[in-house]
Amino acid sequence: MLSTMQDVPLTVSRILTHGSTVHGKAQVITWTGEAEPHRRTFAEIGRRAAQLAHALRDTLDVGAAERVGTLMWNNSEHMEAYLGIPSMGAVLHTLNLRLPADQLAWIVNHAEDRVILVNGTLIPLLAPLLPQLPTVAHVVVVGPGDRVPLAGGHARVHDYEELLAGRPEHYDWPQVEERAAAALCYTSGTTGEPKGVVYSHRSLYLHSLQVNTAEAFALASRDIALPVVPMFHVNAWGLPHAAFMAGASLLMPDRFLQPAPLAEMIETIRPTIGAAVPTIWQGLLAELDAHKRDVACLHTVVIGGSACPPALMRGFEERHGIRVVHAWGMTETSPLGCVSHPPAGVSEEEEWAYRATQGRFPASVEARLIGPAGEELPWDGTAAGELEVRGPWIAGAYYGGAQGGALRPEDKFSPDGWLRTGDVGTITPDGYLTLTDRAKDVIKSGGEWISSVELENHLMAHPGVAEAAVVAVPDDKWGERPLATVVLTDGAALTYEELRAFLGERIARWQLPERWAVIPSVPKTSVGKFDKKVLRRQYADGELN
Ligand code: ADP
Repeated sequence: MLSTMQDVPLTVSRILTHGSTVHGKAQVITWTGEAEPHRRTFAEIGRRAAQLAHALRDTLDVGAAERVGTLMWNNSEHMEAYLGIPSMGAVLHTLNLRLPADQLAWIVNHAEDRVILVNGTLIPLLAPLLPQLPTVAHVVVVGPGDRVPLAGGHARVHDYEELLAGRPEHYDWPQVEERAAAALCYTSGTTGEPKGVVYSHRSLYLHSLQVNTAEAFALASRDIALPVVPMFHVNAWGLPHAAFMAGASLLMPDRFLQPAPLAEMIETIRPTIGAAVPTIWQGLLAELDAHKRDVACLHTVVIGGSACPPALMRGFEERHGIRVVHAWGMTETSPLGCVSHPPAGVSEEEEWAYRATQGRFPASVEARLIGPAGEELPWDGTAAGELEVRGPWIAGAYYGGAQGGALRPEDKFSPDGWLRTGDVGTITPDGYLTLTDRAKDVIKSGGEWISSVELENHLMAHPGVAEAAVVAVPDDKWGERPLATVVLTDGAALTYEELRAFLGERIARWQLPERWAVIPSVPKTSVGKFDKKVLRRQYADGELN
């Protein structure tokens, strides 16, 4: 028997129409580095998204399902692209502006982008690549910047404002199929080649609903959200769509991602919730410790993308009164996987233990742990295995490009269609995930596993340690042993013996690294995570002592 419910597709245009009418007065505030930030209401964003769609269809000839790339910072024009491009039936392709040039070109060519929207400040990045991007017929420049390097090539160059000027402010959004492609994002390639994940209208819509629940980030119309996480990093973790749906204003940092301007924009604009990877918040915490700022407006700081060191969590809460919420996700999971809200009725110390985990899964994300022989492991808080997930906003395949259909590499998808995350951890009976490592980062020492994350978390709790990254190095006797690289805080003078003794009080002796290195900074990936691939390459010979 079928239901008697209406079958209304879940689409990005619904989010756009709702946000720009019901929440028309909410704002996208873009930091400019000048005295006044730039402000645009959701109603204006809606009108300009319609103008952009008209320009793309009528002048640049963009058809249904064609890809439009964005090489942009977090700002209001990017928001217009976010909403307008999928709503007209095309596909928004966010480009990671920190990728090496050859990878960026590979990705644009794989996606066959027809148009690229580029911030003027990023022209020096795009211009040298353009001759290698045969599918790109149009480049649209957003904001000031020297256009000369773009001239003379095969792509026509337009100015964003000129392109929008005079266009109708209303667009009759087509009824797109909810399972159709809305947005495309390539994994940042921390491990292996970039792979394209294609989000559907439905998956973005359902994900936005989830982001707005109290068990996730609980955005509401009284909030101002600060996505420091770039809009090219898994849709800024869903915050732009979710904010437009909830009517929460957005504070966009544009290219001002350094600790000092971040602290200033928080003090001035007073956002209530912010989200970024640990390295960004580590920088902000140091800034706040050094220069007192009034940041009490932030009730929540979401930290995800890599493990959040408990010391960072405590630092924000105890010294600045800001609550940190730890979350786990991937490009393939839209990215919301789990969020670390503690359960009700536990003591304060127990709360801290729960909050240090990666968190609990929502109903729409099913999880299982798989052991080395392919067996499903119990949720007992101790059995460690690879995490597999499935759900309506979890990828079931990668984009195959022009040549082929969907790609389902065996190491990424189980035979019964679950996503193999490559993350290793445990789950408690009440559903809290604790990740010990990425499968590729686990240190296999004489048949036992050492968690690099656990060692790093302990080391980063030492007041003299700003950052710590632990990687496996080859060892004749044990197969692999840990190498601990540390970045000391300004003025700290520590010996390896002192660090070893500090660690020795917290972990089993056999896990203690013999190899140490003090380094000026930990190499970072294009989305600001510790780049262990680079560290391993630098220290592959295991010679350091
Ligand atoms: P990439 O795989 O290229 O780094 P993603 O941003 O998709 O790009 O990264 C997803 C991965 O990041 C996860 O598989 C996991 O290893 C790691 N990760 C994300 N959030 C956390 C977290 N809270 N704790 C530990 N690891 C995390």
